[in-house]
Amino acid sequence: MDLYIKLLIGISIPFAFLTLFTVFRLLKTRRNLQKVSRVTIPPETSHDIVLKTCQEYAVSLDMEDSLSRLLEYLKGSVSVSAISFLIPTSEGSSDYIFKSHLLYEVAEAFVNSDLSALREYAEKNLGASVQNIDRRVDGGPLNSSSTVKALSRVIFPIEAGDFKGAISLSSRRSGHFSGLLEKDLQSLFSLCSTYFTLLSDVAQKEHRKFKSMVDSMRDGVFMVDEEYRFLIVNPAIKEMLGLHEAETVNIVRVSSFFSTRFSVEDVISEVFALGKIKIVDNILLNDQYYHLSAIPVKVRDSITGVVCLVHNDTPEKELEKMKRDFSAMIIHELRSPLSVIRGTSDFLLKEEKNLDIAQKESFLAQIKDSSDRLLKLVNDLLDSAKIESGNIELFKSEVDLNKLTSEVVDYYAKSAEQKKIALSVDLAKDMPTLQADADKLRQVLNNLISNGLKYTDEGGEVRVSTKKEDSSLRLLVADTGKGIEDVNKELIFQKYKQMEYAKTTEKRTGLGLAISKGIVDAHNGKIWVENNAPKGSVFIVELPL
Ligand code: ADP
Repeated sequence: MDLYIKLLIGISIPFAFLTLFTVFRLLKTRRNLQKVSRVTIPPETSHDIVLKTCQEYAVSLDMEDSLSRLLEYLKGSVSVSAISFLIPTSEGSSDYIFKSHLLYEVAEAFVNSDLSALREYAEKNLGASVQNIDRRVDGGPLNSSSTVKALSRVIFPIEAGDFKGAISLSSRRSGHFSGLLEKDLQSLFSLCSTYFTLLSDVAQKEHRKFKSMVDSMRDGVFMVDEEYRFLIVNPAIKEMLGLHEAETVNIVRVSSFFSTRFSVEDVISEVFALGKIKIVDNILLNDQYYHLSAIPVKVRDSITGVVCLVHNDTPEKELEKMKRDFSAMIIHELRSPLSVIRGTSDFLLKEEKNLDIAQKESFLAQIKDSSDRLLKLVNDLLDSAKIESGNIELFKSEVDLNKLTSEVVDYYAKSAEQKKIALSVDLAKDMPTLQADADKLRQVLNNLISNGLKYTDEGGEVRVSTKKEDSSLRLLVADTGKGIEDVNKELIFQKYKQMEYAKTTEKRTGLGLAISKGIVDAHNGKIWVENNAPKGSVFIVELPL
């Protein structure tokens, strides 16, 4: 029996030891495993945090917002007492933002120790000069009776190009950040900094492109935030407001510019309130018409600003007026020769028996003259429509410009004589022929010579000449008439454009020069007007050889 008990004890004691030892080993391994997972950040979590933070930065380009998000993500993955950052309010500024997110109740002193550690780090390692600090604390409440101290702390730089700040994580446990965790955090923040820098580079490039686009716009552009701070201002708006380049645009200046017509502040606040585009049209100020569009700028469904585009509508309004005048004039131009044709033919039919041959001939000549006028008008309208639609067709052949010029001048000899205007021609020698549409060039000459005669008073002169240049031929029609002011020298080649004095002249449509320009352009040539000395103008047509 004794032997039996001894044997049992002899076997069970080592067995019990072995079991206890195994259980102990198992528990230790488990505890170690738990410890490791608490002090490391798994790569996929780290990757996720960097991705989400950079996404935030890509949308807002706001370091404070992005780091605040980063704190949120981090607190779920690392066990610390506080996570804080210190960043400048803008690149190179000495005003700083300090934000601390507390995960446990700590005393003010704990937060202060984080702040001074970050400040020291920024000044020593980032070359920062920290002057004013805007301090924000959130998360676990501050508890003045707490004696918790930061026994371990790690600080990492956080950068976006030249924008430099620092982030700290502190723990009430000593040696908390040794080893793996510090390494993980280090690579997480350095990855964030790399991506922030890349994103801010892209943003800066885009900003430069955007700025040069806005600066080159002829419309005035400005953007304000909710507090009417001007975030974007282009040179055109300064010019509209009559400001120098160095002067700043502010809400007072903009509203006083429009104040006699409407309140810009009201328009902007309406756009902020309703989130819809608002347009103010027909703003007449100092003889100029303006059009203002106020457009909401939305970032993630909230309106962060309002962009205002100010367009000077005056040229468009003038064109509209010109078109209206033109329609009225065309109606008149169609109606008057038609009335002559109708009245004269009625009279001829009724009174035919009582009229002699000479009288009949005179009435028929009136009918012919009026139908010529109508035909000319209709042809001009057709030509200008063709030119406008780019459908002008050239039938080119070998053209002798001198011959063509003398023919057209001869044609006008009689009417020049009637108007007592000296019409002369001066043809260059050794003029080569050129490939051109003779009928269309005749049309140009007709227009220039008839204009010369039309806008020159009795006793004046119209001189037509040709000239050979190195690789082109020139045609010049000079008169001693009214002349054309510099501001109108290009405008008269636009459709419908007539000077005030010409509006009273019968049979003018304002199409002749536009058609002439269309024809010359189709020949790859140039047409322009210069002053004639001592008075009048010279129209010059240059055709390439
Ligand atoms: P219009 O049928 O009105 O003459 P044009 O296109 O030929 O149309 O000319 C446009 C305008 O240019 C004219 O209305 C006139 O004001 C101005 N103009 C053209 N030729 C002359 C000229 N030789 N001298 C002064 N003004 C001219």
